[in-house]
Amino acid sequence: MTTQTAARERFLAALNLQEPDRVPVCPWITSDWFQGHYDLDAATWYGSLDAQLEAMLNLYERFPDFQYFPGFRASYGSTVEASSLGCEIKWPKNATPYAEPVIKDLGADLPNLKPGDPYKDGRMPQVMELYSELANKLASMNYEVTSGFLHGPIDVAAEIRGITDFFMDLYRDPKAVHAIMDICTETCIAFANAQYEAGGSSMLHIMVSDDSGSQLSEKHWKEFALPYLKRLFDGMPEGVVGVIHNCSRVSHLIELYIQTGAKAIQFGEDLPIEVAKERVGDKMCLLGNMGPLGIMSNGTPEEVEAACKDLIQKAGPGGGYILSSSGSVNREMPLENLEAMVRAAEKYGTYPISG
Ligand SMILES: [Zn+2]
Repeated sequence: MTTQTAARERFLAALNLQEPDRVPVCPWITSDWFQGHYDLDAATWYGSLDAQLEAMLNLYERFPDFQYFPGFRASYGSTVEASSLGCEIKWPKNATPYAEPVIKDLGADLPNLKPGDPYKDGRMPQVMELYSELANKLASMNYEVTSGFLHGPIDVAAEIRGITDFFMDLYRDPKAVHAIMDICTETCIAFANAQYEAGGSSMLHIMVSDDSGSQLSEKHWKEFALPYLKRLFDGMPEGVVGVIHNCSRVSHLIELYIQTGAKAIQFGEDLPIEVAKERVGDKMCLLGNMGPLGIMSNGTPEEVEAACKDLIQKAGPGGGYILSSSGSVNREMPLENLEAMVRAAEKYGTYPISG
């Protein structure tokens, strides 16, 4: 078996709640770490697919497990969904771009809101071009696009309405919230499918963020988030595994995520891994939950290895576990700490594991 096939099978077995040969180790490495590690400014990173590809290949050839999570994917920032729904995107110098809310007045602006078309609206067509170019380049090297990512309906709705107004609308105008959620969900479904097609139909998984969902009570989340997330995962391309990301507080929601149809969840460090394992570990694959800002960024490699050993022993038994960060790692994380995570999986993650 080639290294690449072994990594793929390891990753898929964990997603399917089985025991692979050993625990896959896949911290979520995204644009911020790449930019810091390879000393690329944001304009170069987002403006050059070749720069992204070179950085990804360099890392993934060194750590083959990472090919499948976060995987080879196009990096395009966090305002794409909002741009397709009509938001103006602001690009401050030396800061993250953000979307200007487009629904300033529910009565006047909501009737004009239409689902974003990935091939026509906002920055989405550029993302499609990035994905198809990435797929072509990877094919010539015998790699493929393995993952997609999008912001989920609550995250997008809060962005296009403005987060304060959106949360007040839950009380003031629930009907309008459902109308916004409906349009955001249709946009998300179209975006997920278009990413899949543009990326050469090879994606294994698509991750959907629901960080803003944490700010809803269980009652509100059931009414305003669950049906839409379920519709989104039902509408994903055939055979693609849906993964939920929520690095905020999930203790009041974690069982409910099972009902969305997502097969895996990446979650924050304030929910102890053994509690998550106990509550949902036989129904969802767990990814996590090393906090990217704590030991991963500031600890010694020995401390990282010890923390990973602890996670593996608590969440590894029985399978369905991927050693990961609870969110995207930041640029301060030294490469030595990444190596320590991989070493921990090799040393302590070989099955059978007893808790
Ligand atoms: Zn997050």
